[in-house]
Amino acid sequence: MSKIMSIETSDVRFPTSLELDGSDAVNVDPDYSAAYVRIIAEDGEAGYALVFTGGRGNEIVVKAIESYGQLIVGEELDDLVGDLGAAAKQLVHDSQLRWLGPEKGVSHMAAGAIINALWDVAARREGKPLWRYLADLTPEQVVAAIDFTHISDALTPDEALEILRRGEQGKAERIAELEQNGFRAYTTSPGWLGYTDEKMLRLTREAVADGFELIKLKVGGSLEDDIRRFELVRAEVGPDFPVAIDANQRWDVEDAIAWLEPLKRFEPFWIEEATSTDDVLGHATIRKAIAPMRVATGEAVQSRIIFKQLLQAQAIDVMQIDSVRVAGVNENLGNILLAAKFGVPVCPHAGGVGLCELVQHFSFFDYAAVAGTQDDRYIEFVDHLHEHFAEPVVVTGGRYRAPQQPGNGAEMLPDSVATWTFPDGPGWQELERRGLRAATRTAR
Ligand SMILES: [Mg+2]
Repeated sequence: MSKIMSIETSDVRFPTSLELDGSDAVNVDPDYSAAYVRIIAEDGEAGYALVFTGGRGNEIVVKAIESYGQLIVGEELDDLVGDLGAAAKQLVHDSQLRWLGPEKGVSHMAAGAIINALWDVAARREGKPLWRYLADLTPEQVVAAIDFTHISDALTPDEALEILRRGEQGKAERIAELEQNGFRAYTTSPGWLGYTDEKMLRLTREAVADGFELIKLKVGGSLEDDIRRFELVRAEVGPDFPVAIDANQRWDVEDAIAWLEPLKRFEPFWIEEATSTDDVLGHATIRKAIAPMRVATGEAVQSRIIFKQLLQAQAIDVMQIDSVRVAGVNENLGNILLAAKFGVPVCPHAGGVGLCELVQHFSFFDYAAVAGTQDDRYIEFVDHLHEHFAEPVVVTGGRYRAPQQPGNGAEMLPDSVATWTFPDGPGWQELERRGLRAATRTAR
C-alpha cells in the first residue's frame, strides 16, 4: 500500500505558431501545448497524463488539474486503481468542483487528466499498453468503469454488457491482428489553411506515397480558396481517393449548408465540425440538407451526454472521440459503446501534442473488444511533436502500429518538459533572445 504523495504539473508549450502548423479557420495561430501531470505515490510509483490546449490558457488547465489532484493526495493508490469506476465518479461529481461544469470545459478536462493518470498506473502495473489492458478486461469490468448517469435512456448497463459479450467472440484473433497490422490512419498534415498550394500538394503526394488511404483538408476560411484547394487536390489524387474536410465549427447552420453546396461535386468523405460543437439539432439539420455527404464531429464534444444526443438525433455519421476532452478513459468507454449501440463508426481526433499517442489506444480497444471491424474506421494522424514522448507513435504504411510500452502513452521526455515549460524553460528563453517570442503571441 502506498499513498499518493504529490501531483506535479507542468505548463508545456511548443511555439508551433511560428510555422502555422495546426492553422485552420478558427485556430489561426495555435502554440500546441500540454497541461502535463504526474501523480506520484510515496513509494515512487507514478502515473502520467496531459490535456492538450492551443496555447494561451494552458495555465488555467494546469491550475484546475492541481485542484482536482488535491482530492486524491493522501489517498491509497491501490484503492483508487482497484476501482477506477468509483475513482472517476468521485472526481467528476465532486460536490463543490462540479459547479464549474458540470461535466464540461476546463474542469472536466482537468478531472479527466487525473483519471487518465490513474488508468496509466493500472496499465503499467499489468505491464500492458492501455489498449491491451482494456481489451483484456472482462465485459463486467468495462461496464463497471462506465458512468451511465444521464445516458441510460440510450444505453443501459445490460445493453453495454451484451455488446461487450458479443465482442468476446474472435477477440484474441483481432488482438493478434492488431499486433501484426495495426490500425488504419488518416492524415491532416497536407490540409492546414496556412499552407501554400505548393506545400499542400507536396504533402498530399507524400501522404499518398506513404500509404495513407484518406487525407483531410481544412475549409471555411474563404469559399473561393476551398474550391481552388479541393480542385487542386482532386486533380492530384484522382476522383476516387477519399478526402475529408473540416470546418472547425466555423459556420452557422444556414452558412454551412450554403457553403457545402459547391463543394459537393468534390465528394468529400465527410464534413467535420460544420457548426458549433454544442449544436445537436444544427448538426441534424445540416446532415439532412447535405445528404449523402457524411457528417462528423466530436473533438470538442464535452461529454457522453452530447454524444448521446447527436446519436439520438441522427445528427452524425462518424463519432470523433478525443482522448482528453472528456473525463478520461471511463467516459470514452461509454462513448465507444454508445457508438456501437447506434452503429456509428468511431474515428478518433488526434494531432496537437500527444493526442495521437493517447487516442490510438481507444481504436485498438474498439476493434479488439467492441466494434470487431475496421470498416470505415481511421485514426487521425498529424506528424508533429512525437519526438517529445517516451513512446512516440509509430505510423508506417498508413497504419498506426500497436503501442507496446506499458501505460497510456502520455509520458513525455523530462528534457522536453524542462525545455518547453512556459515561460521560463530554456526553449522559450531562447525565443525571447532571438526576438521571436512575441511572434508566437503566446507571451503573456
Ligand atoms: Mg477537426
